[in-house]
Amino acid sequence: MIESPLLPKLTGYIGGRWSESPDGNTFDVYNPATGEVVASVASMSESEVQQAVEAGKSALRLTSPYTIETRRKWLEDIRDALKANKEEVGRILCMEHGKPLKEAQGEVDYAAGFFDYCSKHIQALDAHTLTEKPKDCTWTVHYRPIGVAGLITPWNFPIGMIAKKLSAALAAGCPSVIKPASETPLTMIALFTLMDKHVDLPDGMVNLVMGKASVIGKVLCEHPDVPMLSFTGSTEVGRKLIVDTADQVKKLALELGGNAPYIVFDDADLDAAADNLIANKFRGGGQTCVCANRIFVHEKVVEEFGQKLADRVNRMTVGDGLTEDVDLGPLINKAGFDKVKRHVEDALEKGGQLVAGKKPSDLGEGHLFFPPTVISGITPDMCCSREETFGPLVPMATFRSEEEVIEAGNDTEFGLASYVFTGDAERAQRVAAGLRFGHCGWNTGTGPTPEAPFGGMKASGIGREGGLEGLFEFVEAQTVPRGF
Ligand code: ADP
Repeated sequence: MIESPLLPKLTGYIGGRWSESPDGNTFDVYNPATGEVVASVASMSESEVQQAVEAGKSALRLTSPYTIETRRKWLEDIRDALKANKEEVGRILCMEHGKPLKEAQGEVDYAAGFFDYCSKHIQALDAHTLTEKPKDCTWTVHYRPIGVAGLITPWNFPIGMIAKKLSAALAAGCPSVIKPASETPLTMIALFTLMDKHVDLPDGMVNLVMGKASVIGKVLCEHPDVPMLSFTGSTEVGRKLIVDTADQVKKLALELGGNAPYIVFDDADLDAAADNLIANKFRGGGQTCVCANRIFVHEKVVEEFGQKLADRVNRMTVGDGLTEDVDLGPLINKAGFDKVKRHVEDALEKGGQLVAGKKPSDLGEGHLFFPPTVISGITPDMCCSREETFGPLVPMATFRSEEEVIEAGNDTEFGLASYVFTGDAERAQRVAAGLRFGHCGWNTGTGPTPEAPFGGMKASGIGREGGLEGLFEFVEAQTVPRGF
């Protein structure tokens, strides 16, 4: 069992205090590196989720809104608390997610960056007066908090994903009801402990609910006092939320699945392309929505590039994230492990060639560690071309022309992240413009950052997180023209 000063309670948090969990239901949280149960956490009832919404409603201030200075202070204090507790939050994150400790602690810094960004740009949400005076009125534009927001996060970035949403919600003055993924609720509890101790938030401004997604999702979708949901997760659940909130016409911010193309032209710096691919692909064990999922390499350089990948992959170590110098932790659960296994077996059965990688059984039996694997000769009929693998598989296909690879890259319902490696600036511009993806890295595999808007086109979502665009997600513009 995990012990930490940041986990004083394993219950929800409603109206400024830890909730009592009257019916005593719990669910288990596992360390995916060892298979051990590390905690049993309260599984909350429908009425507790409703109480959380009521608490949020009582913290919403419309006629005398929280000032910009007050909101900025909340953001700064959360940022500072995260930074001061980076080691311990990272340790908890590592134990429930499995990613290497350094990466987990890096995620805490990343999360602090969103609170920092919002604190420094919150002035953008101040009201302003239009210089134009149609009908001889003076127009003021106010950015009103939309209301109590439901924030639903996935397990792959247990602190990063909530930071993106919560920083913008608090900047806007929106109370929230937060639901973490059941695989990784402990990092969220740690964040609530820090907010409880170090941040002077009004009671009800932040509420934590945990347990069955169907129970919590139902309340958040149906409750008339929750006008907005911000969700990161699968496209399947995103679609369900669209349907379930249609009656009330709720605002949705959705960051959904990806199927990122990673395109390497023959004029690219192949070492840089390989280094960036390793960093991009194996972050979080290959379980991120911006991970390169389909690698297209110009046919002239595919062998050379494959060799460079093999050299790097063969040096990687797989193991418990808490152990020093581990590059790759376990997959989150058996379903995740089985999916990667199915993709690898399917690719090899359909004619793919193994360039690097061992069998999982070479690492022992009954575990969730999947060795980093590179396969060439990938074709569009293989599962790894159609579905997001969400694991450490690098599937390489070849291409001949720019037009062909743009079409292949776009041949997916998703449109989240994409990458192009080329030394030709004009070609990079053309390819980026042709790829229908919200993010297109040119000679970099880097993902989202607090300063820039990030989000999906097509079935990858609606809305943006980060940047000024992210800051504006939780407000509604209201115009007040003044006649005299
Ligand atoms: P993943 O593939 O990352 O597990 P999911 O879409 O299944 O993605 O889950 C992302 C988050 O959404 C998790 O917190 C999960 O519990 C929650 N979730 C799943 N189903 C629903 C639902 N019907 N309503 C609300 N939240 C849900």
